[in-house]
Amino acid sequence: MATTIGNTRQSLVDGMGRTIVNLRISVTDRCNFRCTYCMPADNVEFMPRDKLLSFEEITRIAQIGSRIGIKRLRLTGGEPLMRKDLPTLVRMLTRLEGIEDVAMTTNAFFLKEHAGALREAGLGRLNISLDALDPEKFRDVNRRDCLAEVLEGLKVSSEVGFKSIKINAVAMKKFSETEIMSLIEMGRSDGFEIRFIEFMPLDSDRAWERNKVLFGHEILDLIRKKYELIPVENSLEIGPASEYDFADGKGRIGIITAVSNPFCDHCNRIRMTANGKLRTCLFSTHETDLKELIRGNASDDEIVKTIRDAVLIKEPGHKINLDDFEQPHRAMHAIGG
Ligand code: SAM
Repeated sequence: MATTIGNTRQSLVDGMGRTIVNLRISVTDRCNFRCTYCMPADNVEFMPRDKLLSFEEITRIAQIGSRIGIKRLRLTGGEPLMRKDLPTLVRMLTRLEGIEDVAMTTNAFFLKEHAGALREAGLGRLNISLDALDPEKFRDVNRRDCLAEVLEGLKVSSEVGFKSIKINAVAMKKFSETEIMSLIEMGRSDGFEIRFIEFMPLDSDRAWERNKVLFGHEILDLIRKKYELIPVENSLEIGPASEYDFADGKGRIGIITAVSNPFCDHCNRIRMTANGKLRTCLFSTHETDLKELIRGNASDDEIVKTIRDAVLIKEPGHKINLDDFEQPHRAMHAIGG
């Protein structure tokens, strides 16, 4: 039986003194795309459906999190919109006391159909993944031929009133160089912040190599050939991106240097997989099972203690750049990006 833990809002602080305010919630490991950096081309083994947390179970964890300091939620996957009735979950989460913001990361394919309902349900912000504007390159990396549907989803999302739409592009050598400027021009003209994420070792094929990463400084060099950029002060204290404004006042970009210049010191997030495993780092090699607790009728106090204990030993940083780096057993689609 659930017991209450009082109305006083507490904070969730890890062993390094970092205050955790963000919870990323994966709602499914399934995806309609097969991005090379994230999933294998076929024969993917997905989580059995009865192992996925229900909307009620997700909401209970988020509610408990909100009482101990979680303020912001992001729904992700797999592709979150592969899960039916997602606006219902968004509505359940936005109603929680203490939750200031519910956002979503999506490949935009289903947004044409669902953007309006998500907006009405209270979804605040959207991050849309789009690595290439060249249709062939898009198909090569996403292993799906549907750039037009993604662009339509993006357009409909702007039309229904999403104010903050960010576009995430994974930055890979010998791939992204030709796409950077066209993405930037689209962002400047249509009001989207384009964010380049250094390719991280989270691919199922384990084909990641350091020399396949297009580094943040290389991206900046490319952009600076045409535009003057002004760093936004303290952007890393708010999120994972180092942000830059265009000196002509037309827009902003972000660079997520997860490999070349990790921002772990500022990390303020934890994640929960679709089957209810708490991960304190994207690169965690151990997880804490919250599903078993909820399904075993654990009290709120017990769940709080479990979350606090896990957070206390949150990894000081990822080890991509160290000799003892171990790639997590789960690929990105099964963690929740
Ligand atoms: N399906 C949704 C989407 O496409 O946005 C959400 C899940 S996807 C795993 C979330 C984000 O993770 C995307 O922006 C994707 O580009 C990023 N991502 C996946 N694998 C990555 C990798 N190996 N390195 C860097 N970013 C990655």
